[in-house]
Amino acid sequence: FDTHLAKAERHLARFSEGIVANQIGGEAVEAADGETFETISPVDLKPLARVAHGKTADVDRAAKAAKAAFPAWAAISGDERKKILHKVADAIVARAEEIALVECMDTGQAWRFMSKAALRGAENFRFFADRAPAARDGASLRTTGQINVTTRSPIGPVGVITPWNTPFMLSTWKIAPALAAGCTIVHKPAEFSPLTARLLVEIAEEAGLPKGVWNLVNGFGEDAGKALTEHPDIKAIGFVGESRTGSMIMRQGADTLKRVHFELGGKNPVIVFADADLDRAVDAAVFMIYSLNGERCTSSSRLLVEAPIYDAFVGRVAEKAKAIRIGHPLDPETVVGPLIHPVHEKKVLSYFDVARQEGATIAAGGEKVQGPGGGCYVAPTLFTGVSNDMRVAQEEIFGPVLSAISFKDEQEALEIANDVDYGLTGYLWTSDVTRAFRFSDALEAGMIWVNSENVRHLPTPFGGVKSSGIGRDGGDWSFDFYMETKNVAFAT
Ligand code: NAD
Repeated sequence: FDTHLAKAERHLARFSEGIVANQIGGEAVEAADGETFETISPVDLKPLARVAHGKTADVDRAAKAAKAAFPAWAAISGDERKKILHKVADAIVARAEEIALVECMDTGQAWRFMSKAALRGAENFRFFADRAPAARDGASLRTTGQINVTTRSPIGPVGVITPWNTPFMLSTWKIAPALAAGCTIVHKPAEFSPLTARLLVEIAEEAGLPKGVWNLVNGFGEDAGKALTEHPDIKAIGFVGESRTGSMIMRQGADTLKRVHFELGGKNPVIVFADADLDRAVDAAVFMIYSLNGERCTSSSRLLVEAPIYDAFVGRVAEKAKAIRIGHPLDPETVVGPLIHPVHEKKVLSYFDVARQEGATIAAGGEKVQGPGGGCYVAPTLFTGVSNDMRVAQEEIFGPVLSAISFKDEQEALEIANDVDYGLTGYLWTSDVTRAFRFSDALEAGMIWVNSENVRHLPTPFGGVKSSGIGRDGGDWSFDFYMETKNVAFAT
């Protein structure tokens, strides 16, 4: 822990000494009006850095830089793009420790998870790098009197807007396919955790990405974010964040007919039938809500348990929740670190009162805890006796907070599972294969894991239904979003 802390302080020093600059056309620049905003550490609420506060003028410069860089980047071969993106991945691996340490201190996420997140970011680059050479390949279809040739080309400069949770990994997940497709980008990271986005763009340019291909504008949603979604040179917006922000972006992008891809919120159910392997199900349910501080779009925040095993099962979850180690994010023993920011902590804590007022029982946690540094530490929490109409069962809390609901049979489990606005993921635990097929067919979610926690396989589609998103990432799906498809019919 002490070594981590000393190293983190060294890496953070460079941010506190200057300002965290925007990156436009390959140059580190301040905001046009010279304004900055402060980013704080969730560990002790002390300032980590001042960040360039980009607004409309900065977004305009960045969009123009992305537009200017587009023809050359789109024109180089997929093989060349593949080489450069692999170099970016190599450079991420070489600086993985630095990235992870900075990410822990900027977000409050525990080292045990973040140390892998940087490597996962490198994997995202490798995955899409390997697909760059074939991204444009089309298909031909011969019919009577016609040969149709269908091809794809990059859509143009795109905007990428990311949230504060696991910002490094998520940025790579959105940016790598855009670059592999041949798009240039303007990235607007979240204002609560801007540091690793700065590292990422530096790493990419040092690895050989041409200037202007990747531009970074820090700022707030209502100014930099809004300007990006409204900019006429930006052809599409890849957005990860809250559902209501997605609605705003759709409105803001309407005048310029912006193509949008949304990865939004969730209120994901883990559904446990009595015939399941209950030992594994308990561990998975605990992991999927309390890892990453529960600040995870795919977390299972609703626990649906078949009535005969409900009391015993939630009792086991409560015991495990109480035993979770809360601590400094850089301590290798820590599982739950401080939440991102006092504003978010206030929101999460408010649900403890909501739960009490609604008549739920707080079986574990339900309070703020005094962690090292005195930051935004909240105890892993379990609400039991929850019914699905309660706010704690319907609203995304986005913290280490689980609501447990009992169901009497499969039909009722399905009704409860689907009775929310969201539909990102679902986790199903049963040993009955027929039921697993039947249930997952009817479950309203973009991604479902049967007898497993969330294990991502990158070629598979990632995304949600209902208020959880529009479009899919992963595999070829990402290219569908970042590219235009053209069909040419030749008469024969
Ligand atoms: P948020 O929607 O508040 O902010 C996300 C980003 O959008 C930030 O960069 C913010 O500055 C920007 N933004 C805000 N208003 C904007 C506007 N009007 N125009 C343009 N940009 C704007 O989300 P958050 O609180 O940072 O992140 C948490 C949310 O993200 C949760 O709802 C979570 O479920 C969701 N999320 C979803 C996924 C997924 O893959 N489905 C992954 C991670 C997080």
